[in-house]
Amino acid sequence: MKRLFHKKTLELHVTDHCNLNCKSCSHYAPIADEFYISLEELEKYYNIIKNHGLIFFSSLRLMGGEPLLHPHITEIVQLSRAYFSNINIIIVSNGLIIKEMPLKFWDACKKNNIIISITKYPININYNELMSFVKNKNIKMTFYGDNIIPNFRHIVLDEQGKQNSLHNYLVCQCGGIYLQLRQGGIYSCPQSAYINIINKRFGMNFKHDNNDYLLLSQIKSIKEIKKYILKPKSFCRYCNLKMTTLKNQWEISHYQKSEWFG
Ligand code: SF4
Ligand code: SF4
Repeated sequence: MKRLFHKKTLELHVTDHCNLNCKSCSHYAPIADEFYISLEELEKYYNIIKNHGLIFFSSLRLMGGEPLLHPHITEIVQLSRAYFSNINIIIVSNGLIIKEMPLKFWDACKKNNIIISITKYPININYNELMSFVKNKNIKMTFYGDNIIPNFRHIVLDEQGKQNSLHNYLVCQCGGIYLQLRQGGIYSCPQSAYINIINKRFGMNFKHDNNDYLLLSQIKSIKEIKKYILKPKSFCRYCNLKMTTLKNQWEISHYQKSEWFG
């Protein structure tokens, strides 16, 4: 029920890669190829969502990887607002290159009422100064949590897929809360949506079943999305939640398989 009535968020990667590369990143950014979503691809998805009456979300989070690395992030901001006039549009960033963003980016953020959300990592950034910098541009900025992240969640993947998928979906804090739009599909969590990055990097064969995602082009109503959120996902058999830990000290990735496996 919590999932059904949660104010829905839709997340999408505008880039897969990142300039910080945290160990065990749940979006697999450290081991991702350089990827920039095209404006054409994005507009195709936005068109379907709008024309089929599928705006089920109150927030759209443009993320990655690091979204500010996208050379057309300004146009992405403008395009997103052109399609969705009444929702929160949030850029989720690590803040590393925020001071290098061009004037046209800030103008677009201001004109289109964009929120910048920064996650605080234990790195050499003065977050108070960053907040003042963004506020001086008249842009709303929030921090993802008040404190610097001391620890990092490490979801352990089970290559054999021997975990109890029903139990996992019921207890997992990820599934169905932050839906992911990826390559024309809606997925219930990042671990599932971006698994192609793991498959490619480590030559593995994690597979999706039909109940793991919805094809955007085939969704007929928001009701269908709500039903999808409530249904357990076969893909959850690949997560070893018993071995998953919340208290791994944050550090830069060594790009090792063990960061995502036991
Ligand atoms: S900053 Fe975010 S996207 Fe980049 S590696 Fe860290 S957790 Fe992943
Ligand atoms: S696949 Fe299932 S168990 Fe794993 S993170 Fe996603 S929702 Fe949770």
